[in-house]
Amino acid sequence: MFICENLGVNDAGHLSFAGQDTAALAARYGTPLYLMDEARIRRNCRVYRDAMRACFGESAMTLYASKANSFRQIYRIMQEEGMGVDVVSRGEIHTAARAGYDLSRAFYHGNAKSDADIAYAMDCGVGCFVVDNEDELHAVEAEAARRGTAQRILLRVTPGIDPHTYEAVNTGMVDSKFGRAIATGEAEALVRLALSLRHVRLLGFHCHVGSQVFAEDVFERAVDVMLRFIAQMRDTLGYTASVLDLGGGYGVRYTDADPTLDIAEKLRDVARVFHAVCAELSLSEPAVALEPGRSIVADAGLTLYTAQSVKRIRGYKNYVAVDGGMTDNPRFALYKSRYTVLPAGDMNAPRNMRCDLAGCCCESGDILQQDVALPDTLRRGDLVAVCTTGAYNYAMASNYNRVPRPCVVMLRDGDSYVAVRRETVDDLTGLDA
Ligand SMILES: *Cc1c(COP(=O)(O)O)cnc(C)c1O
Repeated sequence: MFICENLGVNDAGHLSFAGQDTAALAARYGTPLYLMDEARIRRNCRVYRDAMRACFGESAMTLYASKANSFRQIYRIMQEEGMGVDVVSRGEIHTAARAGYDLSRAFYHGNAKSDADIAYAMDCGVGCFVVDNEDELHAVEAEAARRGTAQRILLRVTPGIDPHTYEAVNTGMVDSKFGRAIATGEAEALVRLALSLRHVRLLGFHCHVGSQVFAEDVFERAVDVMLRFIAQMRDTLGYTASVLDLGGGYGVRYTDADPTLDIAEKLRDVARVFHAVCAELSLSEPAVALEPGRSIVADAGLTLYTAQSVKRIRGYKNYVAVDGGMTDNPRFALYKSRYTVLPAGDMNAPRNMRCDLAGCCCESGDILQQDVALPDTLRRGDLVAVCTTGAYNYAMASNYNRVPRPCVVMLRDGDSYVAVRRETVDDLTGLDA
């Protein structure tokens, strides 16, 4: 069985994706090639939006964390699906604006926004700043005062929850670079400061406990800690938050070892705790926001490569080297992230060769995946697919070694279109003096 329903095998023995022949797509667009299944993106949005409404009512907000994959067409899709978005940089704000996205529905994150960033976001009408710290709070106040406006904000607080995931994607702990901790009293001090300023309007609080969360009760514990903090602010400062943003983070299946999550069911568990704790604390229920990134786009993506060499090191290991690598997908190099790798051009051949899938960069660490099974008939020129690459691949792509970035091709209703064109070597020199 396949790790996602949008994968299959056709009569030619080729891998199909969103019902289309990947070999034909590779022939038409070249490799390396990012493919995105538009119907899957929309389906993932609807799963979240419907579940959020069912669990938390009409005030619930579902935002796509666009750092997972940001280009203009993604924002158009989010607009059509009624999704809010998270943005984290001037580049993402600009991309959303240039897509015609209504930025009053955007939340602006980041722990190091410059004065220019803040001014640009206000110029673009970004609806809500998620303020990370005192320095930023003063800077937002100053810019809003200059404009004679009041900027809506959330404060980012850290609930001190270990989501049992990798350290590099663990952001909810007291010693995190993000936000201010509840446990140390610094979060309360930040609230006091925000309430004393005249040009910010505090809507509530944000927390983000980490990414790729599968553990049973991470969001339940976050809800519990955050609601108790909201009640504490009500009791000590007379301030009642109207928004509770729980961040992003449900996990996706990269390999058969990952569980399948029923998002609606998981959110029902979170809602049960939410309603119970609100009742216990006699808290008027804040509007709940959620910011999934990865789980909106990851399984809507697939990357196709062409094998360039098959190297057997007798007694040690084998390598299949392809025409892309850490430049289009740095996640294995960064986090040892697991992926499912498939021989897209010959899905029926026995996968009887263990090998590492190596990238094309001059860097020993440029490995896309270790110890995968491919057919020993695989040759230079054959296709290799890496699945579930829709999140944090194109978004994290670089030009290391002056490798141009692949194009992003969207698949829709049996047809395809270029959403981001392939970089050329002239694009690379285009910035040089
Ligand atoms: C990265 C991030 C998200 C999205 O996380 P995913 O694991 O992609 O769902 C949401 N909110 C914030 C603040 C983030 O930093």
